Amino acid sequence: VWTVVGCLALTSTQLQVSAGESPREARFLDDLLARMTLEEKIGQLVLVSIGPSHPRDQVNSSIAAGRAGMVLNTVVREDIRELQRQAVEHSRLGIPLAFAFDVVHGQRTLFPIGLGLASTWDLPAIALSGRVAAREAAADGLDITFAPMVDIGRDPRWGRMSEGFGEDTWLITRISETLVDAFQGDDLSSPDSMMAVVKHFALYGAGEGGRDYAPAEMGRRQMREVHLPPYRAAIDAGAGGVMVALNSIDGVPATANRWLLDDLLRGEWGFGGLVISDHGAIGELISHGVAADAEQAARLAIQAGVDVDMNSDVYGLHLAGLAERGELDPALIDRAARRVLAAKYALGLFDDPYRRSGPSTEDALAFDDPSRLHRLEAREVARRSLVLLKNQRETLPLDRKARIAVVGPLAKSQADILGSWSGAASPSQAVSLWQGLVDARGGEEGLSYALGANFSDDPLVVDYLTTYTPEVKIDPRPAQVLRDEAVAAAGDADVVVAVVGESRGMSDESSSRSELDLPAAQAALVDALESTGKPLVLILMNGRPLTLERQAGQADALLETWFAGTEGGHAIADVLFGDFEPVGRLPVSFPRRVGQLPLYYALVPTGRPVDPLHPGKFTSRYFDVAGGPLFPFGFGLGYTDFSLSNPRLSSRVLSRDGQLEASVEVINQGKRRGSTVIQLYLHDPVASVTRPVRELKGFKRVTLDPGERARVDFSIDPTMLAFYSGEGPLETIEPGEFEVFIGQHAEDGEPLSFTLRP
Ligand code: BGC
Repeated sequence: VWTVVGCLALTSTQLQVSAGESPREARFLDDLLARMTLEEKIGQLVLVSIGPSHPRDQVNSSIAAGRAGMVLNTVVREDIRELQRQAVEHSRLGIPLAFAFDVVHGQRTLFPIGLGLASTWDLPAIALSGRVAAREAAADGLDITFAPMVDIGRDPRWGRMSEGFGEDTWLITRISETLVDAFQGDDLSSPDSMMAVVKHFALYGAGEGGRDYAPAEMGRRQMREVHLPPYRAAIDAGAGGVMVALNSIDGVPATANRWLLDDLLRGEWGFGGLVISDHGAIGELISHGVAADAEQAARLAIQAGVDVDMNSDVYGLHLAGLAERGELDPALIDRAARRVLAAKYALGLFDDPYRRSGPSTEDALAFDDPSRLHRLEAREVARRSLVLLKNQRETLPLDRKARIAVVGPLAKSQADILGSWSGAASPSQAVSLWQGLVDARGGEEGLSYALGANFSDDPLVVDYLTTYTPEVKIDPRPAQVLRDEAVAAAGDADVVVAVVGESRGMSDESSSRSELDLPAAQAALVDALESTGKPLVLILMNGRPLTLERQAGQADALLETWFAGTEGGHAIADVLFGDFEPVGRLPVSFPRRVGQLPLYYALVPTGRPVDPLHPGKFTSRYFDVAGGPLFPFGFGLGYTDFSLSNPRLSSRVLSRDGQLEASVEVINQGKRRGSTVIQLYLHDPVASVTRPVRELKGFKRVTLDPGERARVDFSIDPTMLAFYSGEGPLETIEPGEFEVFIGQHAEDGEPLSFTLRP
């Protein structure tokens, strides 16, 4: 794809971005830029969203005057066509607009949220979600998606964990390149491709204390090692754009961060594509306290390398004056404008501004509703995203004829199951879990329902939810009455299915939480249900790991479903009735208590060995909580059991240009056919810097019949042992002993060791 080809030599002093352009494109862009006024060039840098601060009429006239180059959040095909017509037919040069939107986990047909996609540990399934999303969104005339979001999430107090893919660098890196390929396809100009804008560069997930937008403070070595690889992978896969994070890094907001955007992204990584600010972020340089006014904010951002101003009006109002007064090199404006035009060129907008979304509707690829095929695909991916965390006494799968009491505030919700960033999907098209159960049984007979509890009774939480997610309805009856209804329903049933967790608005932008327990109202419901003595299946819907020690003890079966998307209810029913084996694995550790955060498996050792005389003292563990995570990274059960035995290395030594095989024998010990994910972790016990206790380096899914066995193997080569030993860009590979763990989660398996020869 077009972005990575050239620009390797681009530095802050070389302003041209022509190395990746074909001669035809270069001629086209040269010619166009030569005909543009300064204002028209600046107009290309303005990404505007129609809304109260930018009414439609005002946007229309800006477009016609060449003062807007891109539009955000307009998703209706007719509206897109109309705005494009303004640009093409009424602006002086007829330069087409590009239309951008957060097509994050689907557009009309929603797939599971990011955490759910990551739980599949299935890259082809994740790719499928991206292809369908791009196909549906591009059919409406959208060109650019603000995805994938590849910020590492290690503190689930952060509400945007839901959009990301969990805690692990290696896994997220694979997902990042997979989704960029999926959104963009082989050719950006084809009518079912979108340009991917990877976000949020950088470290947005590392804000202090899990607070949204909070500063990220860490050394560059750790940045390179843990946080930067997924962004880099997106760029290497050809992502057309990068969105800059809202946070500051070591005191410098990303939006004005020359080291980040110029030295690293443009220089070291050779990125030649578009750099887009996050929403309003250029103006926010004032509230960050690094710009005195909007003019200074504009100068700082464009000098750092931000090409496009998302909806803060700062570029449109101030760049021209700065350039005219000689306070800004106009070549910076030329450079940014050329990048925007190059993106439009790559999208084919100069040849077909409507990208088959018009002007006549006949040639549009229309997806007014989720199509049958896309629904089937969403159901298939959603089934794979469900993670079975507990299943005692084979509570699951359920007998299809059992009398089931279905309770909880999420059981009938169509909006929540879609998750946040729900594209252009309407909740009315989503399948709730209740509906999924009804469809699976061919009717409501034998099913009963009770709300059981509101999401929360805490006035602060209720106020937040009802203000910002109007779809949340609070039942005014006393909590005890709601619980009594649920208990009565349970009394008449063979099994209780309680659907609890968070509303989708609780795991979203600006929804950090200080505690991660099930809200008290729902926890009291679970207590009441437990006291009925009926088998209790807890279905979790939530956008982040929760602290569920109590409920994990109470439930007979526990199924994490995240927010599973349009077909979520069908997918969950498929698993509950055993039509589909649960195959998901956690992409993130579940803490026991919020005070353990941040908690992730790839911890760096503290240097304190266990003191045999005082085994509980002089360690960095919390003395008031037993054990590490409640559920470790990589964990998940199925309906059959696997055992691993005879782990083997093909050799005890590895040479610098060699490779060795690590393998393990896997046996299906249970009574059903099923699959498991075998995971490879490495550890470097002695190195020039302290290495994490384990790092994921590979995984393979194996599917076996009852009693069947297979040997699963992984190749290990020296590049997998590389790490950053200092702040600089180069990784090192240090000879010595290494440990290999093969298991079914991040705490599983005994170490094997080998030596890397000098
Ligand atoms: C979010 C971005 C998003 C943008 C546009 C911002 O508030 O942080 O992730 O792409 O809005 O919707």
